[in-house]
Amino acid sequence: MEQNHTAYLSLGSNMGDREQFLKKAVVELNRDPEITIEEISSIYETDPVGYTDQPLFLNLAIKLKTSLPPQSLLSKMQEVETKLNRKRVRKWGPRTIDLDILLYNSVSIQTEVLNIPHPRMLERAFVLIPLSEIAPDDVYPGGSVSLHQVLCEQRDKEGVRIWKKIDWEDAYVRSEN
Ligand code: ADP
Ligand code: MG
Repeated sequence: MEQNHTAYLSLGSNMGDREQFLKKAVVELNRDPEITIEEISSIYETDPVGYTDQPLFLNLAIKLKTSLPPQSLLSKMQEVETKLNRKRVRKWGPRTIDLDILLYNSVSIQTEVLNIPHPRMLERAFVLIPLSEIAPDDVYPGGSVSLHQVLCEQRDKEGVRIWKKIDWEDAYVRSEN
């Protein structure tokens, strides 16, 4: 099927080998024939938000093309979370991997199990800063404000530090072995 939908995801990890969990999640998603990853941001290290008494996170954002509708994409992401040993212990608590849909085309979805755009993305520097690296000029659905503009207002937010730029070709190759 044609992969004519564009989605942006946020990935986060704050348990175990955080970088490996991020890499494995990217590889697992990309392995699905209905998903092609197009862009990957740098990795950022970020202070926990909400429940703050937990380890620092690594976060990144990706852009992908897919033939999957939003709900199926979410199911695939949850499959990957489970495979990477995600346990749902405490809302916003420590996790090996967290995969969230930020944007899907320019759709707006509000259901019990799925909210797109992600309802808290505009308040979260740990989402916006990686995202703006790969989607600086995209307009946030329903508004006239670009993500870049939103980010400018967030610039002075503390707690998000660039951590590493990954050579993803290398990461893919090594994970195949
Ligand atoms: P959080 O990411 O807020 O820490 P979880 O990862 O445990 O929490 O997700 C809780 C639920 O959020 C999921 O079961 C999923 O159905 C729902 N959800 C709603 N909107 C989204 C979205 N845009 N991306 C990912 N999950 C979402
Ligand atoms: Mg989540």
